[in-house]
Amino acid sequence: MTEAQIVEKYTRVLKTSLGLWIQAMVIKNPQSNSPEITWKGVGRMLPVRALPENVEIARYAALKDRRFFKQCTHCGEVRPPSLILTGEVCADCMGMDVRLAA
Ligand SMILES: [Zn+2]
Repeated sequence: MTEAQIVEKYTRVLKTSLGLWIQAMVIKNPQSNSPEITWKGVGRMLPVRALPENVEIARYAALKDRRFFKQCTHCGEVRPPSLILTGEVCADCMGMDVRLAA
């Protein structure tokens, strides 16, 4: 996955009346048939009128937050920590099919 795809898949922008909040996907029980997905805010809220490029920068910056993303020792990409399995290897490298239903 490219970094852009990781950003697209595992982060989102929540628009509120107070501002734009970058959120990271948190996945519980990824190995079950129905993983539980929640979203947690990362960093400070951006102004409602933040420029699109600043929103993008903030989404990429979220990938650097070690509370929400860990690096796979095999492919070097980051994933939500629950998708980093035994031996610090990610679910994708392990060939694990994680069903992230929308
Ligand atoms: Zn990997």
